[in-house]
Amino acid sequence: MTSAVSAPASVSASPATGLVCRACGAEYPLIAQHACYECFGPLEVAYDQAALARVTREQIEAGPQNIWRYAGLLPAGQDPATRVTLDPGLTPLVSAPALAAAVGLRAPLWVKDDSANPTHSFKDRVVSVALTAARSLGFTRFACASTGNLANSVAAHAARAGVPSIVFIPSDLEQGKIITTAVYGGDLVAIEGSYDDVNRLCGELVETDEFEDTAFVNVNVRPFYAEGSKTLGYEVAEQLGWRIPAQVVIPMASGELLTKVDKAFSELVEAGLVEAPEGGWKVFGAQSAGCNPIATALQAGTDEIVPVKPTGIAKSLNIGDPAAGAYAIEAVRRTGGWMDFADDEEIRAGIRLLAETTGVFAETAGGTTVAVLKKLVESGKLDPAKETVVYNTGEGLKTIDAVAEQVGPTHRIKPSLRGAREAGLLG
Ligand SMILES: *Cc1c(COP(=O)(O)O)cnc(C)c1O
Ligand SMILES: [Zn+2]
Repeated sequence: MTSAVSAPASVSASPATGLVCRACGAEYPLIAQHACYECFGPLEVAYDQAALARVTREQIEAGPQNIWRYAGLLPAGQDPATRVTLDPGLTPLVSAPALAAAVGLRAPLWVKDDSANPTHSFKDRVVSVALTAARSLGFTRFACASTGNLANSVAAHAARAGVPSIVFIPSDLEQGKIITTAVYGGDLVAIEGSYDDVNRLCGELVETDEFEDTAFVNVNVRPFYAEGSKTLGYEVAEQLGWRIPAQVVIPMASGELLTKVDKAFSELVEAGLVEAPEGGWKVFGAQSAGCNPIATALQAGTDEIVPVKPTGIAKSLNIGDPAAGAYAIEAVRRTGGWMDFADDEEIRAGIRLLAETTGVFAETAGGTTVAVLKKLVESGKLDPAKETVVYNTGEGLKTIDAVAEQVGPTHRIKPSLRGAREAGLLG
């Protein structure tokens, strides 16, 4: 599988020029390969900067109401007919003054609510880009190693495209993520181990002849997958009226999403689509106390990430050996941000606080991010006087057990006015 991603001559070509090693700079064509042959470093998509600079706000604004309005800044999918997609994106940017007041922010606060995507998490963005590239590269089966949301999204995309799928998950995943994957059909393999075990096995399977036809979105086509996360940066800037916010708070599993939102802001500035905010932007990362190898390394002042065995309720963030951790640390240090983590009780409180102040019901990852936002304000790491965007990446209905024992009816009454009166509802 080494043919390049290509588009018919009638549509504008991909601005991507190849893959480049993030560690040593070695260059490769646009192939299904995620690690450098020279140094085993991760590969990333490289672009023709002049092609990116030709993209205009007007072109984007005239585009479809989904991530493909940014096709001129993505590695694949320029020709609509080539897309493998549920058309995710353009999710609400919710003004959150009550949440701002509750956590002690004096400047505008926004929640980028990516639970509004077709399979209810931000993973639809990365899967659409990865599978579009994968089909152009000739793959005929779609797969992934998942902490839950990716499984939903790959199975749903495969169903829409009529392509077989095989999805690998840890067997102890939430019911709400197993059922919402299985319902789309396709093979679903529950592995008796952690996500890191699942990922390692997928890395071995992808090398076998039997899986030669299979694109693992976060293994062999990972460089394309990662680029889909950039749309969460582009969209926030466009929704703010082509401005970059001063501060963003982002949940981290592998750390990839965080690095790509930062990359998206840089690209927008370099392409002349927005001006950098005064003093630049600061990127903040959120993990759970049960799985905090990136935040721990940053706080200790090193880039040396010590893998952990994940525990705790934020399962979608439970990657103990995070592939992009060092790059997330680099982005946070370079921009002057910080990272912190929240324990299970703080995560539950974060879910409820977000719900009660904004009407957005987040999964545990969103609760983690809100809990960390609160800590960052309390510790003075986040400037309470600067505009902030907090990312909710997933839907609360998928992890309903997290708060099931904490909330319920506030009254229980007989079906009569007397019953209502006895409960104090009539004064
Ligand atoms: C996968 C996931 C993330 C983080 O993704 P990375 O790019 O691996 O850091 C955040 N939130 C949710 C809900 C996810 O499913
Ligand atoms: Zn290299």
